[in-house]
Amino acid sequence: MFYFDPTYIIIIPGLILALWAQASVQSAFKKYGRIPSSYNGTAAQVARAMLISSGNDDVAIEPTQGTLGDHYDPKKRTLRLSDGVYSSNSIAAIGIAAHEAGHAMQQKEGYPFLKLRSASVPVVNITSNLSIPLFMIGLLLSFEPLITFGIILFATGVLFSLITLPVEFDASRRAVKMLNDNYILRSREEEDGVKKVLRAAAMTYVASAVVSLLHLARLVLLGNRRRRD
Ligand SMILES: [Zn+2]
Repeated sequence: MFYFDPTYIIIIPGLILALWAQASVQSAFKKYGRIPSSYNGTAAQVARAMLISSGNDDVAIEPTQGTLGDHYDPKKRTLRLSDGVYSSNSIAAIGIAAHEAGHAMQQKEGYPFLKLRSASVPVVNITSNLSIPLFMIGLLLSFEPLITFGIILFATGVLFSLITLPVEFDASRRAVKMLNDNYILRSREEEDGVKKVLRAAAMTYVASAVVSLLHLARLVLLGNRRRRD
């Protein structure tokens, strides 16, 4: 869809940032995935402990396949932990399990950015599929309203990736606090390890927000250029 043209250069810094973020999350996970925590239990048990102490006893915990596929499903109130995390006792696994429990707490408390994010999922599913095709048709036909409409639809996706940022940072902040409050983290080294893993994971969301912002800038530029022709 994105044929090559000089405006594509705009995206390159974002792609470099995304590659860097991906590499950092992998290296943090590799390093802290090998270091056992002093807590006598698995990441799934840590998640259970966090959920109970925050009044989220009704949330189910399930294993799921694939690496880094860990997520919280607000609709089914289910926390899914990947194979490498579920039964692991590593610093990385415990941090991730606590982060997902942080999302369950956000839902229970009605954390506004999570609400906004969940509410915009069905809208963004539609707009993100339509934006580029409509924009391209607008360019081909030199039909300005369609170009603008395509850009506006694309911008809803950008907004979504920006809303995701506070949701992710807040879940990690809750995770560290809960792990400390429940005496699961027992040394400064353990806390630093968890923070490094969660920060690296958050950077991948920052990178994808930057990439989508740069894509938006590129569409605006392409649209303006067409208008001048
Ligand atoms: Zn998250």
